[in-house]
Amino acid sequence: LEKVGEVSPQTAASIVQELADQRSNLKLIASENYSSLSTQLAMGNLLTDKYAEGFAYHRFYAGCDNVDAIESYTVEEAKKLFGAEHAYVQPHSGADANLIAYWAILTTKIQAPILEDMGETNPAHLSREDWDRIRVELGNQRLLGLDYYSGGHLTHGYRFNVSAQMFDAYSYSVDRETGLLDYDEIEKMAEKVKPLILLAGYSAYPRLINFRRMREIADKVGAVLMVDMAHFAGLVAGKVMTGDYNPVAFADVVTSTTHKTLRGPRGGLILSKAEYAENVDKGCPLVIGGPLPHVIAAKAVAFTEANRPEFQNYAKQIVENSKALAEACIAEGMVVATGGTDNHLLLLDVTGFGINGRQAESVLRECGITLNRNALPFDPNGPWYTSGLRIGTPAVTTLGMGKPEMQEIASIIKDVLSAARPQIIESGKNAGKPSKAKYGIEEEVVEKAKKR
Ligand code: PLP
Repeated sequence: LEKVGEVSPQTAASIVQELADQRSNLKLIASENYSSLSTQLAMGNLLTDKYAEGFAYHRFYAGCDNVDAIESYTVEEAKKLFGAEHAYVQPHSGADANLIAYWAILTTKIQAPILEDMGETNPAHLSREDWDRIRVELGNQRLLGLDYYSGGHLTHGYRFNVSAQMFDAYSYSVDRETGLLDYDEIEKMAEKVKPLILLAGYSAYPRLINFRRMREIADKVGAVLMVDMAHFAGLVAGKVMTGDYNPVAFADVVTSTTHKTLRGPRGGLILSKAEYAENVDKGCPLVIGGPLPHVIAAKAVAFTEANRPEFQNYAKQIVENSKALAEACIAEGMVVATGGTDNHLLLLDVTGFGINGRQAESVLRECGITLNRNALPFDPNGPWYTSGLRIGTPAVTTLGMGKPEMQEIASIIKDVLSAARPQIIESGKNAGKPSKAKYGIEEEVVEKAKKR
């Protein structure tokens, strides 16, 4: 950091401050973790200086021998870890991975058969008219994924995301009463929509997904089954999600991030059946530009770490902690969506405290707890203010915490939220009403929470 500071003292200071923040606040953001020092060192080095468009041993640049070695090794580590037929380790992020996966599926299932009919293999050789015809076909396909408001991700066809422009996008929700996925309903919807892609996976769903059942639905309607395991990849790698709950065993294409429960560097990953391999490998240059060799090297380190027995203990402990935290929250009188959790996250309904999710998020941050507000299914407060909090245990489990700490965390959350009150707006047309953004809390409560 001294070297960074010689050039940019401000940047060095922010890095040091971030270290202090991450050490002094409790990290309960479900999508964050603490990567190992080996992972960080593999990522922060001179590999960043190398361009390597293409994929291993098939590059558009010279001098890629070492990147070839790194990338092909990382691919093998990913395949071994997840038992996948094919792996692609270049996506810079989870959003990239989804775009590449969509494109690979469209190319395999829609573009390739049309080209075959035309007796052509290369789209570059087509006339403008023929290519326009293919473009229309590519743009007419349907995607069916979990609704953003039920815990799906923006990239799963949310109206303001490019995925909803690429596809005629439809969504399924969780059941209004139970908050759970209702597979019979999903099946009915899939029969009606007849999507090219049936997408499973989430950013904020606290239960297991039965991928065998999702496969049955996809088969019934002739859809490709894609799973986005960005959140729970670490639980798959750590053998907590096995049998019907292992997406790799059932999906055609699986996308992921590498930095959440998987505890690697910030990045993306695609696993696929052999049928999609060729088009998945064309992610660069079809969607992304040059890969990030330093991040790919760090992925290799993280995959190797995740393939060790200690990681299986870690993954098991993440879920035990999550369950313990949910039980402790319920014992403290708080409302946990679906009544608990089977994975690394839980959703807390904070409306009983007379505040919204945004206020709850801010007041907890002031008290040293970092987590994020989250819309609950069918949330009347919408995605900005929200009625809920998403709480995750991957990071605190990395710190070695267990059940007693989860009970203490639940008790702190309860004390802080009980003491928070919306502030009354003083002037303007909303004067006299409670603010949706501001809250008040006694300094004493803040100090006490921080000490604990
Ligand atoms: N998919 C899911 C399910 C996610 O939760 C996320 C991120 O939160 C992403 C994709 C996007 O990942 P990234 O932020 O790396 O683009």
